[in-house]
Formats: sequence, C-alpha cells, structure tokens
Amino acid sequence: MRILVVEDEVLIAESIKIALEESGFVPEVVSDGDTAWFQGGTESYAAAVLDIGLPKLDGLSVLRNWRKEKVDMPVILLTAKGSWSERVDGIDAGADDYLVKPFHMEELIARLRALLRRQGASRTPQFEARGLILDTRQMKVSVNGTPIKVTPLEFRLLNFLLHNQGRVVSQEELATNIYYQDQEPDSNAIEVLVGRLRRKLKVDIIETRRGFGYLIDTVSGGQT
Ligand code: CA
Repeated sequence: MRILVVEDEVLIAESIKIALEESGFVPEVVSDGDTAWFQGGTESYAAAVLDIGLPKLDGLSVLRNWRKEKVDMPVILLTAKGSWSERVDGIDAGADDYLVKPFHMEELIARLRALLRRQGASRTPQFEARGLILDTRQMKVSVNGTPIKVTPLEFRLLNFLLHNQGRVVSQEELATNIYYQDQEPDSNAIEVLVGRLRRKLKVDIIETRRGFGYLIDTVSGGQT
C-alpha cells in the first residue's frame, strides 16, 4: 500500500520512511508543499502523512487544495507541539487524524492502520478471508491455523489484495503499490510472485481475472 509522506525535515522523513517500510507499507517521500499537492492530486495513495510547516506551500493549504479537488485519501497531520489552533484548523481543513511532534513511530503506524481499517475490509489489525489470516501488526500470515512464511514483498501483495477485497486489482496497480519507488519490476514479475504465493498458501484464494488482474473475493467459489 502506497503512503505519501510529506516532511521537509530529512531525519524525520527518513525515520517515517523506515518505520513504514518495516510495517509493510510502500512510502513515497516528498519534501515541499507544491510537490505534495501535485503528487497527491495525480497519483493514488492509500493515505498521506502530512507535515504542516513546509516550504513553498504549507501543509494546511495542501490539504485544503486536495479536499477542494476531491482527493479523499485519509490524511494524518503532523503538528507542532502545543499549537491547538493548528489542530483545529487541520481538522476543519479535512484531516482525519493528527499527531503532535515529537511522536513515536509506533503511534504513527497504529493510527495509520486504524485509518486504513476504517475504509477497508477489516475492523481489527487482522484480515481474514477463507481460512487465510493476515496480521498487519505482527506481519504474519497463516492458512487454516498453519503459519506460512512469506517475504516482505509477498506480504505487501497479500495485504493490498485483502485491503481491496472483492475488487479486481490490475497488475499495474499491484506493482505500484508493492514495489518501492527505486525498484523496477520485470513485466512478468507480478505473475511470478502470485504463482509463488499460491504454491505457498496451498489454497485457491487469489483468483485470476484474465486480462484484468487479480482478486481475493469476499465469498468463496471462484476459480483460479
Ligand atoms: Ca516541517
């Protein structure tokens, strides 16, 4: 799942990036408000982490612009300590949550997961579908109670499909949401990855819709 991170302080941006990667997300970092406005309006992200104090265009203006343009991804604002008026302005501007600096990365990740759950298929940090359980907090996968060892890339793929449960996801959309920015996957990489994952899971849970993409359905009975 791609997350847009807008933060101009290099060290904080780097720690957020690392924390997100370790939690199975695919972060994309930008460091000024203008670029953030553009990226958020033209690319698709599961959520954004947005600092308020930014060069070129401040975070609140970025957020107002996004909402005016119907960019509706969940947004967590990073606000300065003690500035309650900033938080009020942020919520008025359309923020879904905020964190006061300095914050613990664990808290950011937990709030991000909660936001994604609200719009996704699951109410807990776990996704369940036809015997498959994916635990987004412990980053573990099991099938009918048997733990399955998956790579971080395989985890990200399962996570994205489960988050979009019931919807067909194209190979292209999958690739942008599970590979990091600097990775350039081969044209058949997704096919190979899905094949490997199916063998590991041993259950027909990832369905193929020829010419369209892949799907984890909410009800069983599809063919693979
Ligand atoms: Ca800043």
